[in-house]
Order: sequence, then structure tokens, then C-alpha cells
Amino acid sequence: MRASTYEVVNPATERPVETVQLAGIEETDAAVAAAHDAYGHWRSVDPADRGRLLRRFADAVDAAVDELARLEVVGAGHTITNARWEAGNVRDVLTYYAAAPERAFGRQIPVAGGVDVTFNEPLGVVGLIVPWNFPMPIMAWGMAPALAAGNTVVVKPAEMTPLTAIRIGGLALEAGLPEGVLTVLPGKGSVVGERLVRHPQVRKICFTGSTEVGTRIMAQAAEQVKRVTLELGGKSANVVFADADLERAAATAPYGVFDNAGQDCCARSRILVERSVHDRFLELLEPAVASVRVTDPADEAAEMGPLISAAQRDRVAAYVDGNGDGNGVSVAFRGDAPAGAGFWYPPTVVLPANEQDRIWREEVFGPVVAVLPFDDEADAVAMANDTEYGLSGSIWTRDVGRALRVARGVEAGNLSVNSHASVRYSTPFGGFKRSGLGRELGPDALDSFSDVKNVFISTEG
Ligand code: NDP
Repeated sequence: MRASTYEVVNPATERPVETVQLAGIEETDAAVAAAHDAYGHWRSVDPADRGRLLRRFADAVDAAVDELARLEVVGAGHTITNARWEAGNVRDVLTYYAAAPERAFGRQIPVAGGVDVTFNEPLGVVGLIVPWNFPMPIMAWGMAPALAAGNTVVVKPAEMTPLTAIRIGGLALEAGLPEGVLTVLPGKGSVVGERLVRHPQVRKICFTGSTEVGTRIMAQAAEQVKRVTLELGGKSANVVFADADLERAAATAPYGVFDNAGQDCCARSRILVERSVHDRFLELLEPAVASVRVTDPADEAAEMGPLISAAQRDRVAAYVDGNGDGNGVSVAFRGDAPAGAGFWYPPTVVLPANEQDRIWREEVFGPVVAVLPFDDEADAVAMANDTEYGLSGSIWTRDVGRALRVARGVEAGNLSVNSHASVRYSTPFGGFKRSGLGRELGPDALDSFSDVKNVFISTEG
């Protein structure tokens, strides 16, 4: 297939930012071949040197935090404060995993007649498929542990948001990573992404994106028993009990769902409130939603920017308004959003008729949150779990025993109590059920970029 181009558009202004060359099948095959060649060398680089190179890569990212952040503001519509955090997260994830090469311990297992040891062997070429919602962190979460474990990596950024990935690829070379160890290949999912999944020399796919595409990738990967890490959709619950600090729960709820304009797989897009405080909670939530600053994402005070594209905005609007078929949902209240150019949508709170409403069940991926009451603890857990997803969630209560019971009862990979924080580079992140497979970040991620080899050495005769 012939290569083509893609014009990156600033979501806040709809003005073109840059035209990017898209790779086709031939370029993908060439990149995989180069990554395969580089693998032979990279896996045998002295562990201390591999760690040193990753620390230099982290330093190069650190020196470019502002440049990367500005690129993400114009190329993806992220607020400048979020974008700085995201670039800093790339640095931190690289620094964290830079310590791993020298600590990739195997085990020594007692056996009769000799010595038995295990090695954590790298897999080979890893294909990393990144979505448009968090281009920098999600690239880092796959890239850093994969490189630390001794693999080489071919990254396919989302077609809409390739700019920061391209720059990070350049920083890797400037930091001294050998050619072919990290390759960034902008292109379409249906071309480059699919080729990486089907290419026999790609030994693992690390994918973040929709459950629909992730399910297809898992089926295709099965043909080669290719390893996969999948980080997919979510419909996470924010469960507010009557004994909670209601003021804090209401003040923070907008940030648990409207961050990144709701384009976040961890968005707490269902708020479950104990019936006795339901009305009071909504009274407190209304001013909190009204005060979310939705404005030019380059503005230091911006708390929410535009959606990524006109198509995404229309998709979100259709969930709220229906498709002209009278299937809209009741809107409780809304915040503001700029008028005019840009893919803006205001923070919106809706009251579904019941748990069967589409907006209660499907991932909207926009600044819309649905609120329903629950009766007691058992009811709250049942409602939180009544979804095909299981990525994150929050629990607001002052009762420690209840917090732990509910946290153990909710089927999700990342839960927070009296907080909405789901992501730290040092702790595992990933989904239950159809939200994914495998764990990123923390100590767990390294295991999914290596295979265990067992070696027995006879000491007899
Ligand atoms: P996709 O799942 O289509 O895209 C995610 C990544 O996969 C992109 O890099 C995409 O490439 C690539 N891709 C697409 N098709 C294939 C394929 N057949 N083989 C290999 N790679 C492929 O998500 P969308 O961008 O279409 O978003 C749709 C919805 O998915 C969102 O509205 C949201 O609900 C959900 N989503 C969830 C995310 C999460 O973090 N959980 C992230 C993104 C989306 P390209 O973009 O170039 O086509």
C-alpha cells in the first residue's frame, strides 16, 4: 500500500498544525526488520549500560518537557498543565524502569542433582499501539518496561496525535539509544497497526484503545500465540456513601470524570449516590460543575479543553441528545464551553431513567457523567459491577471497614478511596473483565515483556 499523509488539526481552533507522512505496509516491514536486527545487540547490552541509556533518555525528555507539552496542547487539545504532567510522566516512567535491567533477577530453585536457575528473557520486537487520548503517557507505559527488559519497540501512535511520539522518538536517538531500538511509525491502525499484529517477527502487542479493536487484536494475535497486553474501555463508578465528606466528594467529582474532557478510560462516568443524600449531593455538584474552567487549553488556568475531533464531539452529543429519535437523556445541569471554532462540549450531568439507559452502560468518552441513587452497600456493589468493564472506580466513605469491603467487592483493577487518583508509575494499572488483560506500570509490567526460562545444570559426574 502507498504511503499517504495526515494533517494534524488543533482541536481548539480547527487550524492545521502539521502534515505528517504516514507509513504503509512496506515501511512497517522495514521498521520491524530494523527492530529485529537491533534486538540482537540491545538484549546483550550490559545491564548497567542499558539502565544508563534509559536514564539519559529520561534526562532528554526532562529537558524537553515544555516543548513536548506545547506540542500536545496544539496537537491534541490537552490543557497545558495536564500536558506538562504527561511529559513529566514519560520522564518518570523511564527513570523508574531504568533501574530494572540491573534488577531483572531470576530465581534459584532447590532441586536434586544440580542447580536450577531461571532467567527473564526478553521477547524480541514489541509492537506498541497507542490511542489519541493520552499519547505521551501511554507510549511511555509500554515503551519503558519493554526497553528495560531488553526488547526493541516499534510504536504506532494514533493517526490523529503523532507529534509528541515523533519527538520522543527523536529524543531517544539524541540520548544515544542505538538506531532500531525505538522506532516511531505514524500510520493508520488498519494499515500499520494491523501489520504489526500480523507480523511474525513482532512477538508482543501492547495495545490501548477501544474494547472493539482490542478484542479483534486478541483474536488475531492468538493465531501466532502472540503475547498481548490490552488496556481497553471503562465505565467506572464513583460510589458516594451518606457518611462521606459530601462537600469534598462533590467538589472533586467533576475532576474525576471531566479531566481530559472525559476522554479518559478511567473517567468516573457513573456516580452512584446513597439515596438519603442524593438530592443534597446534586445541589453540591451543580456549582462544582459550573466552576470547571473550560477554555483555550494553552491558558495556564484551563481545567478542560476541547474534544479531539468533530466526530468525537458529535458522538458525545448523540449520547445526550439522541439521534433525533427522541432517545435523549434528561440533563440535570451543565457547565460552560467556548462558542465558535474548536471541538467544544460543556461538562454535562445527566439523570438516566434507569440502569438500562445507554448512557449508563456505554463508554461515552466525553465530558458527560450520569448519576443514579443506590439503597445500601450491597446495592452499590451490585450496581458498580453491573457492567462489562472493570477498569477503575472511587469509593467515598468515612467508614474504613466499608471502604475495604467495597474495594474488595468492586470488580475493577484500580480503585481509590476518598480520592480519584488511579495512576502512579510505581503501582500496577490495568483492567478486569472487558477492560483489558495484563498490567502496566509498577513492578508487574516487566513480567509481561519477558518470558521465564528455566535452566537445570547437573552437578553429577
Ligand atoms: P481505536 O481502538 O480505534 O484506536 C486505538 C489505536 O488502535 C489507534 O492507534 C488506532 O489507530 C489503532 N487501531 C485501530 N484499528 C486497528 C486495527 N485494526 N489493528 C491495529 N490497530 C488499530 O479507538 P478510536 O480512536 O477509534 O476511539 C473510539 C472509542 O474507543 C473512543 O470513543 C473510546 O470510547 C474508546 N477508546 C478508549 C481508549 C482507552 O484508553 N480505553 C483510548 C481510545 C479510545 P488509528 O487511530 O490511527 O486508526
